[in-house]
Amino acid sequence: MKFRLLSFAAFLLASAAVLAQDFEGGHFRSGIDWKEPPVITSEAVLTPPPSDAIVLFDGTSLDAWEGAAWNVADGTVTIEPGTGSIRTKQKFGSVQLHLEFAEPPLKTDENGNPTEFGQWRGNSGLFFMDHYEVQILDSYECETYFDGQCGSIYKQLPPLVNVCKAPGQWQSYDIIFHRPIFRVENDQIAEVVRPATITVIQNGVLVIDNWAIQGDTYYHIPPHYNLHGDKEPISIQDHGTPCKFRNIWVREIPDATVVPLQNKLQHYE
Ligand code: MG
Repeated sequence: MKFRLLSFAAFLLASAAVLAQDFEGGHFRSGIDWKEPPVITSEAVLTPPPSDAIVLFDGTSLDAWEGAAWNVADGTVTIEPGTGSIRTKQKFGSVQLHLEFAEPPLKTDENGNPTEFGQWRGNSGLFFMDHYEVQILDSYECETYFDGQCGSIYKQLPPLVNVCKAPGQWQSYDIIFHRPIFRVENDQIAEVVRPATITVIQNGVLVIDNWAIQGDTYYHIPPHYNLHGDKEPISIQDHGTPCKFRNIWVREIPDATVVPLQNKLQHYE
């Protein structure tokens, strides 16, 4: 009975959430009234790759990537706007990832006022498994919807704090990502046995705390899972602005860590 009451409460909450969703202008909004993440300051953490890391960008070439020819110079790679996203040739499941990024200089008019705003200022993104975006954006003294600002899981969860640095300054992401586990029947997801989870540390500060990702991070529709492999490329988004990156590496997390969970689920079936 207790379970039924809880289920009913969950149903009511879910219904309210659905009713509050907003598709105005083809732009999906969850309807959740998030509070603005407090602004704090911290320094980037510039960690060289550990000895067992797979280096994805060491400052000299994009050999580990495919998709577009972005500009590699002076130890950094800069998005060539309009050429498309890049993705790793190697596929990954669960990983620890380190990446350093810098937002492009602020564009201003003759009076020194910014001419780019919100999602149009320094937008890129780091996609795990080519499906799940950690937003990269210039959120330094620049407002947008909170679950779309830098450090958010795009359109799902705002960062706990806004620890963004000014354009041109190097920032760091250290991320722990665990892949989702699907039960598959007839080439379709029969059950999300375990959602993907993600922890994001930006400039040494926790901004996403072990969030259970709700599915693909769409712009125009609510998140939902789509079937994909146990390993997929990591990709970086071209959203039309010249963000810079350097020092990108990953360490794979073995799937062995999820086997006990699967066994437990089977036990309770
Ligand atoms: Mg983006």
